[in-house]
Amino acid sequence: DDNAAAAKPACFSSVIPGWFSEMSPMWPGEAHSLKVEKVLFQDKSDYQDVIVFQSATYGKVLVLDGVIQLTERDECAYQEMITHLPLCSIPNPKKVLVIGGGDGGVLREVARHPSVEHIDMCEIDKMVVDVSKQFFPNVAIGFEDPRVTLVIGDGVAFLKNASRGSYDAVIVDSSDPIGPAKELFEKPFFQSVARALRPGGVVCTQAESLWLHMDIIEDIVSNCRDIFKGSVNYAGVIGFMLCSTEGPHVDFKVPVSPLDDSSSKSSGPLKFYNSEIHSAAFCLPSFATKVIELR
Ligand code: SAM
Repeated sequence: DDNAAAAKPACFSSVIPGWFSEMSPMWPGEAHSLKVEKVLFQDKSDYQDVIVFQSATYGKVLVLDGVIQLTERDECAYQEMITHLPLCSIPNPKKVLVIGGGDGGVLREVARHPSVEHIDMCEIDKMVVDVSKQFFPNVAIGFEDPRVTLVIGDGVAFLKNASRGSYDAVIVDSSDPIGPAKELFEKPFFQSVARALRPGGVVCTQAESLWLHMDIIEDIVSNCRDIFKGSVNYAGVIGFMLCSTEGPHVDFKVPVSPLDDSSSKSSGPLKFYNSEIHSAAFCLPSFATKVIELR
């Protein structure tokens, strides 16, 4: 009845016959819907509900706690930008850490950089890795790179134990700040990232949407300005926070290590990223520039 429904915690949408609608307390009053052809997987891990379904127009879709994480049709945009914006902004990245990213897409993109010698990944939920390998082989191909070391665990704890100054780049490919990823948006986590980066090292995090989450973004920017004494930039609209630690100057707007298609190897050519869209990503809408004072 209505009271029972009202009392239920705001749950995420579940797959309903015919359509999947993505509803979340993160975006009240709106829902993105995709026509479902077939539900391919549905289970609950120790951390979240995991669903894979075949959509009518976006290929296969990965959903965690009712929130779409990737679709075969457009995952390239997110995976390429979150990876190449930081890695193309510094010369010769060698040691890279990925927090989250259990679908393997960021690993696939990091592997394009010939200078990279070692890639650590800390993903909290093994079910996401297994499901991606089963249903998204073109995304999970990233796990096959011999430079990758996968740790199943909490990214917060992993960074607490990371040696000081040990990474050139950290990429935080996390879900949203509710559920297991909540602490990945908080100040202590960013402080541990800064400690794990070398001088002039860079971090790029999934930083929500200018349209939906200016309050969250303002907090992230404020924390990053306190913690990172190099550059602090926001890129994109469903965007990314890019920061560098004190040391060799990093100008995120100018890719110093441009990627060309010789990097395609087994993962095929780049579908979204290029040097022009790299620089353009830092052009922000006027309503955002007033809020996000950057340096
Ligand atoms: N592309 C997605 C997006 O735009 O939000 C993110 C993709 S990826 C699937 C997000 C990953 O973060 C998930 O696999 C989730 O299990 C992982 N994750 C969430 N919290 C985590 C934590 N505290 N430590 C490590 N991984 C975490």
